[in-house]
Formats: sequence, C-alpha cells, structure tokens
Amino acid sequence: MESRGTKRGAGKIEVAEPWNKLPASSLPTDPALYAGPFPFYRRPSELGCFSLDAQRQYHGDARALRYYCPPPTNGQSPNFDLRDGYPDRYRPRDEEVQERLDHLLCWVLEHRGRLEGGPGWLAGAIVTWRGHLTKLLTTPYERQEGWQLAASRFQGTLYLSEVETPAARAQRLTRPPLLQELMYMGYKFEQYMCADKPGGSTDPSGEVNTNVAFCSVLRSRLGNHPLLFSGEVDCIDPQAPTTQPPTCYVELKTSKEMRSPGQRKSFYRRKLLKWWAQSFLPGVPNVVAGFRNPEGFVCSLKTFRTMEMFEYVRNDRDGWNPSVCMNFCAAFLSFAQNTVVQDDPRLVYLFSWEPGSPVTVSEHRDAPHAFLPTWYVEAMTQDLLSPPKTPSPKD
Ligand code: GDP
Ligand code: MG
Repeated sequence: MESRGTKRGAGKIEVAEPWNKLPASSLPTDPALYAGPFPFYRRPSELGCFSLDAQRQYHGDARALRYYCPPPTNGQSPNFDLRDGYPDRYRPRDEEVQERLDHLLCWVLEHRGRLEGGPGWLAGAIVTWRGHLTKLLTTPYERQEGWQLAASRFQGTLYLSEVETPAARAQRLTRPPLLQELMYMGYKFEQYMCADKPGGSTDPSGEVNTNVAFCSVLRSRLGNHPLLFSGEVDCIDPQAPTTQPPTCYVELKTSKEMRSPGQRKSFYRRKLLKWWAQSFLPGVPNVVAGFRNPEGFVCSLKTFRTMEMFEYVRNDRDGWNPSVCMNFCAAFLSFAQNTVVQDDPRLVYLFSWEPGSPVTVSEHRDAPHAFLPTWYVEAMTQDLLSPPKTPSPKD
C-alpha cells in the first residue's frame, strides 16, 4: 500500500486503517545521538568468494582476482596516464541492469548447507552488499545523497537491497561527460597497479571492462546482528605479511592532488570517511591512493592504513567519528529487524533517507520492490520440504 492517505477526496474524513498501519516510527540520523563507545564488531572472516566475468556471468571461484603490482620504488615517481584508452578501450557495465542481491544469493544458495556457525546461523543473519553497509556507516555525515534500502525477511534471514532513488537515477542518466571520464580513470588506475597472475606484470594496453569483478563473501557481527555480506575486492598483495584474506587484500583509489591546506582538510573529512567505511567493514587493512594532477596523470602514490584514517580527523571539530558511524548502523539494523517482522519474501519494507531528515519506512508487496528472486525462494523452500539426506560415508 503506497502513499496511504494521499488519494482521499477533499472533505473526506481521515479514517485510520489499523490493519495495515505501521508502527509510527522513524530513525533520526544526527551524529550527536550516536556518540559513545565503539560497538562490538567481530573481526570479519572470509567465507568464500565469487567472480563475475567480462560478460557479467557468475563463477563460484576467484578467477577475476588480480594481484597487487606497484611500480618499482627506485626513487622515480609513477606517471600513469589515466585517460589513456578512453573511450575506445572502455567497456562499461550496463547500469540499467538492476542486479540487486542476485550474485550474492547465488553464492548463498551454493553454500547454504555448509556455512560456518551451523545450520541455524543464516536464519539469524542479515544478508546484504558491503556497499549498502558503507552507505549506512556514512549516513550521519552525508549532506548530499539520500538512499533507499528494501528489506524482506525470509526463513528468518533479513535481506537488505538498495533501490536507486529517482534523484540518483536522474543524475546517472545526465552524468556529465567529465564525470564519466573520471569514473573510467578510477578503473584505469587499477589496471596500472594490478597483474592477472602473482608475480606477473601489468598490461595498460588492454581494455578496461567494468563487468569483471572479484567479490569476497564475509562473515561478521555488529552488536547482536550477525552479518553475511559481500564486497568487490580490487586485488590481493602476494607480498603481504599474511596471505590470509581479507588481511592480504588491497583497495585502490584515485584522488585529486592536494595543493592547499583547505583541500587536505576536505579530503580528510569527506573522502577518507568513505574510504574508511568501505575498507573497515570487510577488514581490508590498506588503501593505496594514486593522486592525479589536473592533466589526469598519477604522479604519486600513498598507502593509507584503514585503522589509522581516523587520526587525520580525531582533533577536527568537523571531522567524523567511527563510533558514530558504527552506532548508527547498529541502530538502523535494530530498527529494520523490529520493522520487518513478517516472514514473507514478497513483502518489502522500503527504508528511505534524505539528508536533513530521519529514516522513514513504507510497506509494499510484490513488484516493483520485491527483490528475492523466484529461483532463490523456490530452492530454499524445497530444502525445507525435502531436507538433505544424511551423507553416506562415500560422499
Ligand atoms: P561498493 O562497495 O560500492 O564498491 O559495492 P560492493 O563492493 O558492495 O559491490 C557489490 C556489487 O555491486 C558488486 O558486484 C559490484 O560490482 C556492484 N557494484 C558496485 N558499484 C556499483 C554501482 O554503482 N552500481 C551497480 N549497479 N552495481 C555496483
Ligand atoms: Mg577501488
């Protein structure tokens, strides 16, 4: 039932509809409300991974994983032309295709019988993309872009899937050419820094195809919320002190060269917050930044340790605080758990947020918001009807 109360004729008496009335509640996002001690966050562990190929097809393996291959540190600075190959060697992913949680659900379906934590663990967990959690973490400090998250409960599990807001869609469809080129440049940087094989070399002459992705699937827990989420990982460092994921993963970023104290301050306040949130969630310890000059060349690299990023804003009154981010996220997850009570894959609660306002919620059934695919719901339901036989010693 969408926008209840908006179609009533003038003069008609407003009658409450108690049978479909939601608990009158919303969630505020003011940072001051979420100050306090850092909440419990379980050290993320990798449950598995999957890859998407150049045609965006799913494979339950690490074939798309690339290997960190920085240029030699012989005193020379790099000189990566990030605009090289644009647009002729660029194959951008079709952003009109709404993939929702599909690839992650594919992985869950394949591994549901052998998840650590036992057979009941999934029923108590929240399943989502890392990118959705990143948006929750940064919400108390975000002043520009709102979000919408669709939520459904199925077999106990709470699933969260982002819905593109009308404003985000409009922006995407009218994205200025300069912004499109900037997006390409971020992927081009990855190509300059990664090899296809451990100990291999980079190949900047190739195509940049953003259909290709390697995704790590992680388990963690925020407060009392067990989490199963997946995030795209840029590369693995074969020389990392430990080869155990996610500790050996590296996130690659580009940013504009900073030429003034004001530019630095704004970088620490805005960009480092996003970098921290994205890498802290999956336990990726290092972010390697390439700083580009106005001509689009990366001339310097700097490694930021995820656990040290907060130091750049710790004494800044207008900085961000990791506790606020995590406490807000925990509060949102509790809000969602308490709102989505009915177990029904066709029932969707849409959580909506715009800067300057609290998070609100509306209730929907089926299209267009239902996001758990039939193939997933049917396979999971079959499990309950015909539980797997006890494995024989031969299996
Ligand atoms: P990120 O943290 O925002 O990069 O997102 P995730 O790592 O959680 O990515 C989850 C999945 O969404 C992966 O398959 C990504 O390739 C894909 N993805 C990442 N960014 C976008 C985006 O802007 N739009 C869409 N449709 N998919 C994206
Ligand atoms: Mg990256």
